[in-house]
Parts: sequence; structure tokens; C-alpha cells
Amino acid sequence: RTSLDVAAVRAQFPILHTQVHGRPLVYLDSAASTQQPLTVIEAVSTYHRAQHANIHRGVYELSQTATRLYEEARATVARFLNAAEPAECLFTRGATESINLVASTWGRANLKPGDEILLSTLEHHSNIVPWQMVAQATGARIRVMPINDAGEILMDEYRRLLSPRTRLVAVNQVSNALGTINPVREIIIDAHAVGALVLIDGAQWVAHGRTDVQALDADFYAFSGHKLYGPTGIGVLYGKRPLLDAMPPYQGGGDMIEQVTFELTTYAPLPGKFEAGTPNISGAVGLAAAIDWVESIGLERIGAHEQDLLRYATERMSAIPGLTIKGTAQRKSGVLSWVMVDPPIATLDLGTQLDLRGICIRTGHHCCQPLMDRFGVTSTARASMGVYNNRDDIDRLAEALAECVADARRSSAVLPGAGAVA
Ligand code: PMP
Repeated sequence: RTSLDVAAVRAQFPILHTQVHGRPLVYLDSAASTQQPLTVIEAVSTYHRAQHANIHRGVYELSQTATRLYEEARATVARFLNAAEPAECLFTRGATESINLVASTWGRANLKPGDEILLSTLEHHSNIVPWQMVAQATGARIRVMPINDAGEILMDEYRRLLSPRTRLVAVNQVSNALGTINPVREIIIDAHAVGALVLIDGAQWVAHGRTDVQALDADFYAFSGHKLYGPTGIGVLYGKRPLLDAMPPYQGGGDMIEQVTFELTTYAPLPGKFEAGTPNISGAVGLAAAIDWVESIGLERIGAHEQDLLRYATERMSAIPGLTIKGTAQRKSGVLSWVMVDPPIATLDLGTQLDLRGICIRTGHHCCQPLMDRFGVTSTARASMGVYNNRDDIDRLAEALAECVADARRSSAVLPGAGAVA
């Protein structure tokens, strides 16, 4: 079934050996944030214990060590994404800031009334709101690719929406709420054919398969460290050099300048131009350790393990009476989103019931309110998998859900008619 030694992987995650409410932890919320292996925790700890100083410009050895670690982390990211050069990889706070950076620099410099930004129904709020903000500021207009009932982008509709007015297409590679894997290579080819740029939100992809920004021919690519077994507060924006060179800076401050007078400032070359102020140095070190760790296991192996688990989980969940899975795309990552309709159980109650059993899942709109609207729900329950999950985790989830259904049936039998309230 899988060549991954899951027990050996789990042994490297201290948090997986803790308890919640006196029950062993079952962590099924990796789409929100992954846990960190010891090698990441130790890289960050070693940095704080023995390597920290502010970077760039320090003449003393410790500062040069910190600078080297930070820039080596950038080179690791560039290799990981197959960027043409490290300077095309900017450190940010996360995918959210990466997208905001493009919207407020490229967007404000290039968009004008009548221009169109094309998004998909599957987008996370962080790939919607920054574009709305720049659309309001520039007079550009947002258009939206529709999806089918399985949660897949309707590619013919997408092609119909493309026109010379389309300046940018921003789409996720994997939907956080449903797990749909989008055909981003095709999306990019079609967008380029009308002269539009493409930003790929890779937040939900990078931990599950190989990324090659040059093979994709992505213009911008965004992701977060904390969904890739790394720390929070660190993420990446990849951009093609000619685009980044032509964009105005994002924030002003130290490190992003070449020469400052009160009359005029000239800006540093890439990547400094987009990294004003002291960055999250330990975060970059932790992210590089996470990338090394993921690559030591192999992304193909991780992806195959998660696919195996997804098949098993889909089977087990489908057998639970009254449970409806939302998002049944042909190509999916390890995400299951569902609602309990018969008897109806509010997702919030479900999340609380599962938490009491030590099981972490996410409930709510998953920062995808337009997508929830498309499916006519306000929230779903979502279990999402990482490299450390195993069949026991899925069994614990399925057993707990069956108990919740049995409890709900009992209470609706006690309260006649209660089952009809949805
Ligand atoms: N895009 C997608 C698809 C996501 O799932 C997330 C996080 N849930 C983000 C963007 C934003 O990432 P972050 O909060 O780390 O900036």
C-alpha cells in the first residue's frame, strides 16, 4: 500500500504523543497548520541558542552566520520550487502577505478601470480580499470562474471568461475547503494566451507534491511555512525576475534601500527591495529545515501515502449514515469536508464532540464563504491529512462520528420532531 514508515515519521513529532482531554491526540487539521518534526524544532532552537544576530551589514562573525543561514534558506526555497535563482524567492509572513504584496504593488501599478482579475469560486479569502481592495482602488473588476457540484473548476467557462481585458488570474493549486487539485498548468497556458499573468496560491499544495514553478510557468507563486511542517510567520512569494524588478516596493524601511536622502530614495535590488525591516530570520531557518525534512522523505512518497489514506477515509466516512461529503473532485488532496444531514448535527457541535475525544478537525466556513454559498451551506466539518496520519486516526474519527450519529438519533427520539430542525 505504501512505502512510507508512518510509525517512524510519527516518532519525530513530539506533539503527536501528547493527550487532549485525557485522550491520545488525533490530529486531522493539517490543512490549517501542520505540526513540526524535531529537526525543525531543533533548527529553530539552535538558531536562538547559538546563531542569532541581526542580518546583513554586520561586520562581526555572528551576524555573518545569521546572514548566511537566512540566505541559505532562500537558496533552499529556490531549489524546492525550482526557481531560476534565489533572488526570485521573497520571504514574507505567509501566503496571505505574499498575495497582498502582489495585489498592492503589481496591482496598483498596473491595473486600470476596465481591467479584469479572474478568481475561482474555490478561493480562500486571502486570495479574494486583496484583489477586491486593489479593484476598489484602481477601478478594475473581479470576475469568477464557476465550479461544478463536485467542486471542480469549469474549464470551458474559464476560457469564456478570459479576454484581452484579463490582466491577472489568481487561483489556488489545491482548495483548502474541499481538497480539489486544480489543473493549474492548463489554467496558466490559457491565461498566457490572452496576455494575462497568473498567481498560484500554493498554500495547500507544497506539502503534498513536487512544485516546479518553471515547468508550470507561474508568474507568481505563494505559500506558507506552517503548512509545510515549518514555523508560523514565514512564507514565500516567488515571482519571475522581470516582473519583480518592474514592481514598486511593498513596504519602505531598512534593508530595502540603496541610497536614502530626504529628497529621494533608490531601492535595493532583489530580493532586498521587497524585504523591508528585520525579517523572521529563525522562521526562514525553520522553513529550510522543514523543506530538507520533507525532501528527505520524498514528496511523491508523502503524496502517495496521503492518497491511500484519503481513499480509506472516503470509504469509512461514506459508510456513516446521514453524512454527506462536499467536494468529490476526480483529483483531490487529503481533505474531507462533510455535513451531517440526517439526523442534522451542527458542525460546531460535531467539532466539540470530537475534541472531547481528542480529535482535532476544523469546522466552519474555512475562510471560503463564497464557496460555502455555492454549496448552499454555511459551514462544513473538515478533516485534513498530513504525512503523519495513519489508518488508526481515520478509524478513531469514523468511530467517533458513528457515536455522534447514534447520540443524535437518541436525542431526536426523545424530542419528537427535533430531527426535522435543520
Ligand atoms: N490560501 C489557502 C488555499 C489557504 O488554505 C490558506 C490558509 N488556510 C491561505 C491561503 C492563507 O495562508 P496563511 O494564513 O498562512 O497566510
